Amino acid sequence: MAAADPLGDLVAALQRLPGIGARSAERLAFHILREPRAYAAELAQAILDVKDKVTHCGTCFNLTERDPCGICADPRRDRAEIWVLEQPKDVIALEATGLVRGVYHVLLGHIAPLEGIGPEHLTIDPLITRVRAGGVREIVLALNPTLEGDGTALYLAEQLGKRGVKVSRLA
Ligand code: ZN
Repeated sequence: MAAADPLGDLVAALQRLPGIGARSAERLAFHILREPRAYAAELAQAILDVKDKVTHCGTCFNLTERDPCGICADPRRDRAEIWVLEQPKDVIALEATGLVRGVYHVLLGHIAPLEGIGPEHLTIDPLITRVRAGGVREIVLALNPTLEGDGTALYLAEQLGKRGVKVSRLA
């Protein structure tokens, strides 16, 4: 199907991105229009690749191109120590410190009752399944220092504490 209004369609699509208003969407669309076709192809391909090739690790829910991810598959990592984080970007930040010898579990958010986000919307069930499977010695809660992060940490400490693993909190 040929687009009747290619420029208008691009502006509309860009405007759906977070933080992009009508003005910015127009500016980006005209920028893309001025760039060589090769750039447009590269941009379009990169967007498709991220959708087609990047997925969540079935164990830790970090973003990965293969499942299990490189960290979960690494035999040198200590599987008895699970660091619980809110988002994949938090994994990148912690990995950069080189301090973590354990593995991760990404919640993909935090509990936010006012936004209707409950424990069931996060990857808390799979985390409890990991703990239940055994071999976990310690859970380190490295959640964001926000009201929601604190609330999520309290909930997890309660849920995991009663399963006999040590739960600590990264200050
Ligand atoms: Zn993983």
